[in-house]
Amino acid sequence: MDLQRSVVEKFMRYAAISSQSVGGCSVVPSSPGQTELGKLLMKELEELGLVDIWMSDTSVVYGRLPARLPEGHAPVPTVGWVAHLDTVDSKVSPDIHPVMIKNYQGGDICQNKEKDIWMRAADHPELEQYIGQDIIVSDGTSVLGADNKCAIANVMTALEVLKEDPSIPHGEIYAVFVPDEEVGLKGSKTIDFDKFPVDFAYTIDSCELGEVVYQTFNAGSGWVRIKGRTAHPMNSKNNVINPCMIAVDLINMFDRAETPEHTEKTEGYIWVTNIQADPLYATVSLNIRDHNKAKYEAKKEYIKAAVEMVKLKHPGAEISVELEDVYANIYDAVTDDNRKCIDYIYEAMKELGITPKTIAMRGGTDGSFISSKGILTPNYFTGAHNFHATSEFMPMGAVEKSVQMTLKLIELITKG
Ligand SMILES: [Zn+2]
Repeated sequence: MDLQRSVVEKFMRYAAISSQSVGGCSVVPSSPGQTELGKLLMKELEELGLVDIWMSDTSVVYGRLPARLPEGHAPVPTVGWVAHLDTVDSKVSPDIHPVMIKNYQGGDICQNKEKDIWMRAADHPELEQYIGQDIIVSDGTSVLGADNKCAIANVMTALEVLKEDPSIPHGEIYAVFVPDEEVGLKGSKTIDFDKFPVDFAYTIDSCELGEVVYQTFNAGSGWVRIKGRTAHPMNSKNNVINPCMIAVDLINMFDRAETPEHTEKTEGYIWVTNIQADPLYATVSLNIRDHNKAKYEAKKEYIKAAVEMVKLKHPGAEISVELEDVYANIYDAVTDDNRKCIDYIYEAMKELGITPKTIAMRGGTDGSFISSKGILTPNYFTGAHNFHATSEFMPMGAVEKSVQMTLKLIELITKG
């Protein structure tokens, strides 16, 4: 089977459905295109021989490929692949028009003749390594949405290979497609884990060839709400309690070295993301991040203690704090039983001649939430570059390697 052709054909079909997610939306999915794409995938999963195909009311799509093993074969773990239906809202068009550059010969790439949009080789030195490959770019008016439709096409292509070649043995495989990853992993938070009974899972949601992610932040959000007291200036002395100043007092208690602008790699931070205030009310919004679980918990405790201090200083104010865990470090879900799931990635790369680039991600993936539910879900490369930008592109040779990874993982898991 021509893997590249299969991926391209599928990717183009999925990209034609606009499925940008909408931040701040209280409903999942946040846009109807995600449901539309999900329905298309249900049909295709059926054609590929999957069973128990189902879409939840939040547009999570589930499918199961029954095991195909020779009689007497040792038990094989049940494995899942999870990809997301939405594309990111980067304040550009939600409609995606991919452009295929056949046999890239180096130099600048014209994304859009009419609008005169170019990807300059000088700005994108990463292009050079793909000379001789077909490259898919956007037309410059949107992201490409390789994040994460390239992964959906990858999983579907692998399933097609299994269907086309009945001589390939495999265990039970689940494919799950979730909406609204880009707006806080909201889709994966609605996964019904009874319908996803896997031993471990994978996402294909990072960029260039070789990338592996199994360490992510522990992440939380916080809101400190302050109610003060307001009055007319002629009556303000010993009367006004200014929530704006209380918010400043609170923020001043946070370590200025532990902010996003002063940290890197696995260093954590508290990010004051918003201060909303008027003479009566103030709300301070916080993002709390740390790879280290104990340090993450300590940051939450510190915030609570800081709020207590501020309360003592301003006894007339009403101050409350709300903290919410958003996702966890994938690595904290590793056990002796599931550790193999990460080893398989490195084994597959070795067999395919791919040099691993292991990244401790300063962020999270669907796998960060799913792992927090006890299903270890590491992440490997799509082969694409520049996620979330209009310069996002898919070099098809690298994308094909990612499909080979999926197939190799299935092979290694089956072998045990
Ligand atoms: Zn993604």
